[in-house]
Amino acid sequence: MKLYTVVWQGQEVVCVENPSGKLTILPYRSMNDLLTDDPESRKMVLEGGYACAGTLSWEEVRVLAPIPRPRQDVICLGMNYQKHKAEAEQFDTQAFTREQGRAVYFSKRATHCPGPGAPIPGHFDMVDSLDYETELAVILGREAKNVAQEDAFDYVFGYTIVNDVSARNLQTGHKQWYFGKGLDGFTPMGPCIVTKEAFAQPPAQAIRTWINGELRQEAVTDELIFGIAHVISELSQGMTLQAGTIIATGTPAGVGMGFDPPKFLQKGDIVRCQIEGIGVLENTVE
Ligand code: MG
Repeated sequence: MKLYTVVWQGQEVVCVENPSGKLTILPYRSMNDLLTDDPESRKMVLEGGYACAGTLSWEEVRVLAPIPRPRQDVICLGMNYQKHKAEAEQFDTQAFTREQGRAVYFSKRATHCPGPGAPIPGHFDMVDSLDYETELAVILGREAKNVAQEDAFDYVFGYTIVNDVSARNLQTGHKQWYFGKGLDGFTPMGPCIVTKEAFAQPPAQAIRTWINGELRQEAVTDELIFGIAHVISELSQGMTLQAGTIIATGTPAGVGMGFDPPKFLQKGDIVRCQIEGIGVLENTVE
């Protein structure tokens, strides 16, 4: 099941793609309302959704990020694919070397997430090393507290694509990554949320990035060093994860700072992020 937030006749509506390939409007004011609804009543809405409300064609709508305004900052994993960890440590040993055996967690301010086709603001007055990071993002559909690893996927609602856009000069210069990854427009998301039933647990989907048509990143989403069940279980010990929480699981090798010399983003570059089964998130740097 693929869920979208779209603009239709000037207002945001939440839709599900129906078997005919069109969009059925769901009775929620926002994706956050859907995600925080009681799981049982949400299940009834989604199962009946194809029959009720109106149907829209793609020509009538503009697709936004599935969660245009997250309720909280996005939780992120750092250096969670082996080859990306190596390229990051090579770029800046002091900034990126971490203790073995522990996951790197940080948060990313995401006040407003650009959707497919929306520009990525480059902030070039303060950024000289703009980079891309295609990531599988996990969306929680119920509150999670003290979750065992074997139960972790009970709390997952679905998945989307996030581009963890990063200003390397701010990220390394300030030590903490919050500023360099949290500038306005640095969390493009989309095109939809795919509900978890569509994939294996954990998902093993091809993940790729192209810059101006050049393939830069290519991996499979089950190659994470710290997997989804580990992350949900670990973080939920002593820290309640609310419904609607977004967890970006880390990026594979092939980011701009991994090349010698680095291939950072410039104004006009087209960033195409793809995860098999979810779709394509394409944005142009502005
Ligand atoms: Mg990242």
